[in-house]
Amino acid sequence: MSWTQEFKSALKTREEISNFFNFDFPEVNYPVFIPIVFATKIIQAGPGSPLWNQFLPHAEENNVDMGRLDPIGDKVHAKNNQLIHRYENRALFTPTTVCPVLCRYCFRKNELADKDEIFDQKFQEAKTYLMENPEINEIIFTGGDPFILSNEKIAFYLQEFAEIESIKYVRFHTRTPVILPSRIDEGLLAVLESAKHFFKRSMVMIHINHESELTEDVIDAIARLNEQNIEVFSQTVLLKSVNDSTDALYNLFSALADNKVKPYYLHHPDEARGAMYFYLSLEEGRRIFAPLHNRLPGWALPQYIIDIPGGEGKIPAFNPESFEFSGELINRNGEKVKIR
Ligand SMILES: *Cc1c(COP(=O)(O)O)cnc(C)c1O
Ligand code: SF4
Repeated sequence: MSWTQEFKSALKTREEISNFFNFDFPEVNYPVFIPIVFATKIIQAGPGSPLWNQFLPHAEENNVDMGRLDPIGDKVHAKNNQLIHRYENRALFTPTTVCPVLCRYCFRKNELADKDEIFDQKFQEAKTYLMENPEINEIIFTGGDPFILSNEKIAFYLQEFAEIESIKYVRFHTRTPVILPSRIDEGLLAVLESAKHFFKRSMVMIHINHESELTEDVIDAIARLNEQNIEVFSQTVLLKSVNDSTDALYNLFSALADNKVKPYYLHHPDEARGAMYFYLSLEEGRRIFAPLHNRLPGWALPQYIIDIPGGEGKIPAFNPESFEFSGELINRNGEKVKIR
């Protein structure tokens, strides 16, 4: 099956997943989407496994008493519907809101639900903004998931960005190599290869949370990227019931490092409405993370970071002075922000 067929034939309704998994799932306020090949891996892992918990509906998603609708303040910094400019020299570009799978813990789950508002083709406006703001030297393709776009679309955007002299780096944030590894095909590799001629660096940041996601086909997809000399990094979200132990994180990061992926970020979970059952405190996170300094070399240890709720941006979450959390974080301007 081609990746597009795999994508089109994904499980999309409560009825389809109930039949496929032979399990009685609760009715939840958020859509479901799981490609069949990946769903087969979830069945093998079984109920309550890290794979199951990440992608199958949970009654707690309907809890509206906790969590924010826009947890990291993307709307505050959105320049138009496709561009989010929060840090001086780099901007997020969201050419699509479509993902290869729907993750129950997604921090954008409430935004992705109202698609029309966030997604409206305004590319020329975004390009003009980039030309008028030459301090931006890096474009970060995100979404949704940029690898869901066709090769032609990705090539088109890369060519457009190559025309802007100030853009030196491009980056893709993607979950696709894990969910639809067949997507890393010759055509996409050729497009990524061509990006190396336009930009000083082009990077792929794979979103992966648990070692059980690194199956043979995924490892092969990563190897194809490495063989093209495309720089591969990883991003992980710390999640209760998925990877909330030192061992789980150690196993993931050492397996990634063995496969020539540089672990880049471990994200503290965002306080997203409908995903609070994955949340854990900064104290808990720091206690889990600290022993990794002993067990992994610096080049296999990601930075543990937190996005300050409300749009102040990412800062380090580990505190070498204390596991306890004072309730205040220091933002990028050196100001204290009270979050508890
Ligand atoms: C996370 C993020 C980035 C990328 O930050 P890095 O620290 O460079 O990985 C850029 N822009 C926005 C709006 C972000 O949320
Ligand atoms: S792939 Fe990313 S954006 Fe898409 S549902 Fe999962 S966490 Fe959200």
